Amino acid sequence: MATIFSKIIAGEIPSYKVAEDDKFYAFLDINPLVKGHTLVVPKREVDYIFDLEDDELAAMQIFAKKLALAIQKAFPCKKVGQAVIGLEVPHAHIHLIPIQKESDMLFSNPKLSFSNEEFAAIAAAIHKAWEENAD
Ligand code: 5GP
Repeated sequence: MATIFSKIIAGEIPSYKVAEDDKFYAFLDINPLVKGHTLVVPKREVDYIFDLEDDELAAMQIFAKKLALAIQKAFPCKKVGQAVIGLEVPHAHIHLIPIQKESDMLFSNPKLSFSNEEFAAIAAAIHKAWEENAD
């Protein structure tokens, strides 16, 4: 059975997409720790990130690097933190989290909630920076 992230990639479940190429799809985490919290997912359905092929993992990290630059451009922050957990959704993904301080990365923090309009505006801002950086 397809994972929830495969259904998102296929467009069967809506998401706030920020970037995509032939191998990877990036969208806003629906329960964000901070504004701009984004997930990077390989289109190939693999549960554990360290089961990806070497070239796939390298390409995913490069995609995440480019996206981190776009996130930081859209939402100025000290750094974009990266985390891999994967205990909730069995489809490999990287969390990219714009942070001002270490505690912004704590997954035990309460999650933020945004309206549809706010989520759409956040995704549009990151997507715009992603497109600009590609020029
Ligand atoms: P993890 O598997 O890394 O522990 O956590 C999965 C992450 O995916 C969580 O941060 C959760 O909020 C996010 N997530 C789970 N289901 C959905 C969904 O349907 N849509 C979106 N955008 N994010 C989701």
